Amino acid sequence: MRVIAGIDLGGTAINYTLLAAGQSDGEGQKFLIEGLCEHPARSREGPAVCLRQIADGLEIAAAKSGIPLTEIKFAGLDTPGPASATGVLSARGSTNFVHPDWSGFDIRAGLQARLGIPVTYLNDANAAALWGHFATIGADLANDAKLTSISVIVGTGNGGGVIVKGKIVSGRNGFGGELGHVLIPYQSIAGIEGLRPECNCGRIGDLESVCSLTGIERNLLPYFLQKYPGHPLATAGEKAAKLVRGHAEQGDSMCRDIFRVQARALGLFFDEMVNIFDPDMLIVGGGAIETSPEFQQWLLAEIRAGMPAQRVEQADIPIRIMPNGDTAGARGAAIRALEMWRRQSGRRKSDHAHAGS
Ligand SMILES: [Zn+2]
Repeated sequence: MRVIAGIDLGGTAINYTLLAAGQSDGEGQKFLIEGLCEHPARSREGPAVCLRQIADGLEIAAAKSGIPLTEIKFAGLDTPGPASATGVLSARGSTNFVHPDWSGFDIRAGLQARLGIPVTYLNDANAAALWGHFATIGADLANDAKLTSISVIVGTGNGGGVIVKGKIVSGRNGFGGELGHVLIPYQSIAGIEGLRPECNCGRIGDLESVCSLTGIERNLLPYFLQKYPGHPLATAGEKAAKLVRGHAEQGDSMCRDIFRVQARALGLFFDEMVNIFDPDMLIVGGGAIETSPEFQQWLLAEIRAGMPAQRVEQADIPIRIMPNGDTAGARGAAIRALEMWRRQSGRRKSDHAHAGS
């Protein structure tokens, strides 16, 4: 068995996981860290400080789990984008990497040099999607490789990932799976007549414009407050959008309406995906669904109700909630590194067999 680290670099914190795994699929794999294992990211101070933070935090995570650091042979890293598919951060900068030294920085190569072990890279939404795929379709990489899933992560924004026959679609520029900016026929959603939902990207009526915290704040909440004069959230100020989820869970009718619109938007989006990919599984993750199981079930039913009628063969497509949402990025990053290690060691074995024959 080997130990593989999953490292999820967020805006303010780094989250770690450790995965013990054997060389072949049959030997299985096991996460050695259950919940969050965090260390401050300090990404605002630039790559030199941040990479040191990642290495220090990994040492702490290993010590907590009783694993000598030298046992960790591979690491998977995920970060917010925009970045290339191989981990070169955008030269135009981004919200999470504001320090000028980050511009065009190859964070995967930088971390590999710092840790002295092979490091793989994914953007954070794709890493979460890989975890969702693995966790819901079955913890068996050999079986996963045959299957297709679409994961939508509903948080501050809206992202996700498309996994076709076990492989993440990362695209030519690393922007594959930018699901939030796919346009949806929002005009067909009941109860938002006259709404023109704008997204930060400039599009009108993409998935993120209605199905994200930003979408609630910018579009849905102002719209519904007009329909519900005197609602307590009208005077809640800046926090109002964040309070919608809690109110919806408790049955507040305006906030339920807002979540119903989000669910219906997801239903329309999933319908597009069903027709493009004919997937095995649809998965919803992110902060929006970190709620009680009852509310999650209500949401799943509303998503399904939002999907136009499917072909008989596709009508039973499962829609699932992504498990372990807060550690999804780190877990997905570790699985990516595990796949890479198994592929490499498989190749070495077959080279060896050829050399011996
Ligand atoms: Zn957009």
